[in-house]
Amino acid sequence: MSRKPNPDINLSEIVAVVRQEMEEHIGKGKVANYIPALSRVDPRKFGIAITTCDGQTVTSGDAEEPFSIQSVSKVFALTIALERVGEALWSRVGREPSGSAFNSIIQLEHEHGIPRNPLINPGAIVVADVILNERDPKLAITKILEFLRTRADDSSIQIDMEVAQSEADTGHRNTAMAYFMRSFGNLNGPVYDVLSAYFHQCAITMNCVQLARAGLYLASSGTDPISGERVVSEARARRINAVMMTCGHYDASGDFAFHVGLPGKSGVGGGILCIAPQTASIAVWSPGLNAVGNSLVGSLALERLAQLTGWSVF
Ligand code: GLU
Repeated sequence: MSRKPNPDINLSEIVAVVRQEMEEHIGKGKVANYIPALSRVDPRKFGIAITTCDGQTVTSGDAEEPFSIQSVSKVFALTIALERVGEALWSRVGREPSGSAFNSIIQLEHEHGIPRNPLINPGAIVVADVILNERDPKLAITKILEFLRTRADDSSIQIDMEVAQSEADTGHRNTAMAYFMRSFGNLNGPVYDVLSAYFHQCAITMNCVQLARAGLYLASSGTDPISGERVVSEARARRINAVMMTCGHYDASGDFAFHVGLPGKSGVGGGILCIAPQTASIAVWSPGLNAVGNSLVGSLALERLAQLTGWSVF
């Protein structure tokens, strides 16, 4: 099915309407406070960028202000790991919504160290292990960073080293889960190295424009429509989108599908990458989180955007 951009849609106008409607909500939600660098972020920030498959970019608000992409990085790490080991990845990590907290250790015990999906923490740690491939963690980190720089067509994308250090200083539960998975034989690299790769990928800083551009291959059947480069096969792009749709919003993935109807992945930095297949890649950022840990205003903005554009896949 081809879903070409509707020529009657004036995206700039729609984005302006969404932005205006968000005014009354901006500042709501609770900024992540488990590390100082995130807790300092102004809750009143709001940015949105949309890059369409025909190369148009529409932005509003703080779309060029960098933020910590956190768990949004899991989508790109998943892409890299799938390219490395292919379908074999699915013997080490599932593809079902977790139905429990993103960092739940109980589920991991029941399921013998096989995480439910690659977008929750233990799943992303397995993915980091695959990318690490028992080599120097610096190589794995460079691989992820370079992937994002290439996809965003922007070599200025960096890792925030303060955030990376804080993730390591406070990541006791991630460390516990990594050792736990290792005890089940589902981690090959040294725990410290795997976590180093994982913590650094969470600490990548991007803005909405870069993020929307970076995700464009997922909106365009695995090919970057601007450079023409094939990033992943069409089937793989479809599957990554399926995992985002079913697992991308922590314990509220069903709710996001219900309200927005698009594949998406959120992070505790307040960013959400959202894909309108065959149409556009969207990044929103607003740091205040709802009770489940998804950007409160970001989710509302995407819901309105989906309504006004008709982009829901349903
Ligand atoms: N760095 C965070 C952690 O591993 C990621 C949180 C998130 O965005 O889900 O706990």
